[in-house]
Amino acid sequence: MRKDSYIFFIDSLGKPCNDGARQLQNHAKLPNITNSEACKVTVIQDKNQYNFAITIRNIERESTPTIINNIRNGFNDLKDILLELDLKCISIAKSESIENTPWDIIEEIMSEILVDVKTQIVFTVVEPPDRMKILEEMHCSAIGGHKGITKVFRRIKGLYYWPQMKKDVQQFIQICVKCQIKKLVRVKTRQPLCISDTPRRSVDKVALDIVGPFPVISKGNNNILTIQCNFSKYCVAVAIPNATAEVIADAFLKNFICIYGTPSIVLSDRGQAFLSKVFTNMAKALKIKTMCTSAYNPAGNGSLERSHHSLAEYIKTIIDKHSEWDDILQLAMFSYNTSVHEGHEFQPFKLMFARMPNLPTTDHLNKASKIITYGDFIQDMCNNLAQINEIAHEKLVAAKLRAKYYYDKKINEVNFKVGDSVWLLRGGKNKKLEDQYTGPYTIVETFKNKPHVKIELKKNKHSVVHCNRLRLSKITPNDGNV
Ligand SMILES: [Zn+2]
Repeated sequence: MRKDSYIFFIDSLGKPCNDGARQLQNHAKLPNITNSEACKVTVIQDKNQYNFAITIRNIERESTPTIINNIRNGFNDLKDILLELDLKCISIAKSESIENTPWDIIEEIMSEILVDVKTQIVFTVVEPPDRMKILEEMHCSAIGGHKGITKVFRRIKGLYYWPQMKKDVQQFIQICVKCQIKKLVRVKTRQPLCISDTPRRSVDKVALDIVGPFPVISKGNNNILTIQCNFSKYCVAVAIPNATAEVIADAFLKNFICIYGTPSIVLSDRGQAFLSKVFTNMAKALKIKTMCTSAYNPAGNGSLERSHHSLAEYIKTIIDKHSEWDDILQLAMFSYNTSVHEGHEFQPFKLMFARMPNLPTTDHLNKASKIITYGDFIQDMCNNLAQINEIAHEKLVAAKLRAKYYYDKKINEVNFKVGDSVWLLRGGKNKKLEDQYTGPYTIVETFKNKPHVKIELKKNKHSVVHCNRLRLSKITPNDGNV
């Protein structure tokens, strides 16, 4: 607060009408003036300091021309007082407007009326410590409601003035932790799509995931383990009672490995079960390499995500009629595996078994085929398989390139570096009121030509995440307010 004399504006009940009066009120220094009339000037003397309250409106709503008129009359009154007191200097708080009257007009009236007054008039602005208070009140309070930059700026500029106010509002909101973790940003990070390797034969590379939970059925199952061959897109689904490592490892062994053989690579989400000792020990014993697709980035596990979607859709349509949904699970998978996959344009069943299944409707076709020896049959099958594998591989690569072409059209690439502070988008399905982001975290490692970075979640705890889930933070984890 300045120590020299002040001019401020009030209404007829003594309520503040401008920034200067509000600042006095905030510092509990607003004089108690009641029953003053519009246009009147009240002089408050405190030792050598004089404060002047100009009443610019009565309590009822008044038009801007009336208020301008009251201000004009008030200054006329003030002129006589100032001439008499012969003060050296007097200050008035500058605002964007006063009671909807733009500051330009007020300044014009002042210079016109006070032209002969020798007292120097100083325009003051809100002091920095008060600016923070105002920002907090206008953004963080219940009235502020953590609104965005434009809304907060508009609200403040009608009441207060200081240079570069908009920049301050912007900076204040950018470091508001609540805003950063609660709100989704419109323009998300979107790095160019990285194309994964495409295997050349079935069961080489398989991806595992969990779908559900679904309603618990009499056998106690409520989740589905899906196992998909990355090449043929052949999918196996197993109803399981829970997603523990033991259950998953057992289901994978009995329902996939014992029927289709051991894959070289198993891709999985970072689900705790897949990273557990039970699972990694099994993989080690069977010489399977396990690879983690980075958490919650559907693009990294693309084809399985799409199959999950169609599987879930398929199940939902009949789940009402079949309370025991696991009864229809195998039928759903058979339907999926015998339908043409959009990626390679073959039926997954055909790529897996080098033939299509016998169905009641295709029985007459099978009867017409010639009788061949075992040797011929195997030779035929191998030739067929080699041919269709080659075509399927080409088509899968082309489909991936096509997907990349469209995906990359809408990229919003961010060049993350070691040491950057970032907010992490939460994974999974978010309930509406839950925080959208966590953090901020520090990037501790980047990988060349990979869309992932390693972040430090807490001391000695790291996680590799996809860059599309990150956005740069203006606050570092070391900032005291986090
Ligand atoms: Zn906020």
